[in-house]
Amino acid sequence: MKIYHLSAECYPVAKVGGLADVVGALPKYQNLAGLQAAVVMPFYDRKFTQENEFEIVFAAATLLGNRRLFFEILKEKTNKLGFELYLVKIPGLLDRENIYSYPDERDQFMAFQLAFLDWISYSQQTPDLIHCHDHHAGLVPFLLYHSKLYTRLANTPTVFTIHNGQYHGAFGWDRLSLLPEIDLTKTGLLDWAGGINPLASAVKCSWLYTTVSPTYLEELTYNSNGLEYLFYIERAKGHGIMNGIDTEVWNPQTDPMIPNKFSAKTLAKGKKANKEAICKRFELDPEKPLFTFIGRLVVEKGADLLPAAIERSLLENEGEVNFVILGTGDKENELALLQLKNKYPEHCNVFIGYDESLAHLIYAGADFLLMPSRVEPCGLNQLYALRYGTMPIVRSTGGLRDSVIDFGDEGGYGIRFIQASVQDICHSVFRAKQLYKDTAKMQQLRKQMMALDFSWTRSTQQYTELYESLKLTI
Ligand code: ADP
Repeated sequence: MKIYHLSAECYPVAKVGGLADVVGALPKYQNLAGLQAAVVMPFYDRKFTQENEFEIVFAAATLLGNRRLFFEILKEKTNKLGFELYLVKIPGLLDRENIYSYPDERDQFMAFQLAFLDWISYSQQTPDLIHCHDHHAGLVPFLLYHSKLYTRLANTPTVFTIHNGQYHGAFGWDRLSLLPEIDLTKTGLLDWAGGINPLASAVKCSWLYTTVSPTYLEELTYNSNGLEYLFYIERAKGHGIMNGIDTEVWNPQTDPMIPNKFSAKTLAKGKKANKEAICKRFELDPEKPLFTFIGRLVVEKGADLLPAAIERSLLENEGEVNFVILGTGDKENELALLQLKNKYPEHCNVFIGYDESLAHLIYAGADFLLMPSRVEPCGLNQLYALRYGTMPIVRSTGGLRDSVIDFGDEGGYGIRFIQASVQDICHSVFRAKQLYKDTAKMQQLRKQMMALDFSWTRSTQQYTELYESLKLTI
């Protein structure tokens, strides 16, 4: 079965968040399971890619309205990632330093999708399935079935995975002419709330859609930034599949990014040494429980609650807790956290920026990982934390709810709270601090966490079953 995954991100080539981790891992595990999965993504700036590792396999021009865009398809020569990787290079439009946030982002991703479709169409390929990820690839299902350019591919099954339903990539009808030779009687399939909405269109047009956890599938019907009714009426087409983690990249026994490797057996010694390394770097006392937050400093992640929750926790626990924050995001959150660092330098340190190695070190050495997310489609951080024996403290939402059981409940190993509020975070920090004092219990829970299986094997099987079900439909 030949599958193309179409995505804006793929680890390790270009990563902003969880989307990259999933697209960098799922195809690898699918190939190990006997499928033929390849990834197609945009070519960004050379910071992300060494061009000599790629060869040009196709070149043509596509039309974005009346703009003629030359493009090349580059293929990674060695398949070292465990799958074929193709980059769509559109000089002047896609080959920029950052992945997102350009004013012409809509044009960038529309051109990316058109170039992909032109390539498989002109090169006479017939993939068995196209798997589109998030709104950047959301117009492909519509175009495949309703543009005269691609009629040869009109029976190709499409699966659409929603990694984040808050972002839709919507734009106005004035840009309809950018979509080539479409059936104008079908434009309702592009529409939501008076605009062209790629995420909504993909939910309507794909053969089925998936979300990255079962709970998130339900949550979209009441929290999806305006698409609630759509998710309600299309619910029968939806499937929730929990993400896995790449256990080769995220393995405390072999991780080249952590100074002190450890297994479940050497856990106590290994974690202690990694914690000391963090505390040395951030000038914190390694004897105190270390709480961390890693991720985008945005409202969706509850990052706006952190400054008040940290300050209150420090006061309530009389300085018996320490915090390290790693992230970037909304400026006001960054600023508030930096102010906190200045106010309580002995208890709170903050690194504003993106640093993959530091993230690995913190997962390995911290005691508790805070995730007060308002929305969390799956969340990977808690899974990485579990694998490194770091206890996740999570708000009960989306994939967090599906992967973390409170230690007070049967078989539990984490801490869960209900409200995205300062109060609930502080209460959880207090519970964690009390638990930390019981060294034996902590040790037992850490062993339990490390033994959990969140590898891709199970999720890969679920995707394969879905793909197979579509084959029967053809
Ligand atoms: P999202 O995709 O919504 O940002 P996920 O939990 O799915 O959240 O994935 C986040 C991924 O990005 C994790 O691999 C996490 O370690 C990583 N990450 C986020 N922010 C940073 C940062 N500032 N430095 C290093 N890694 C980060």
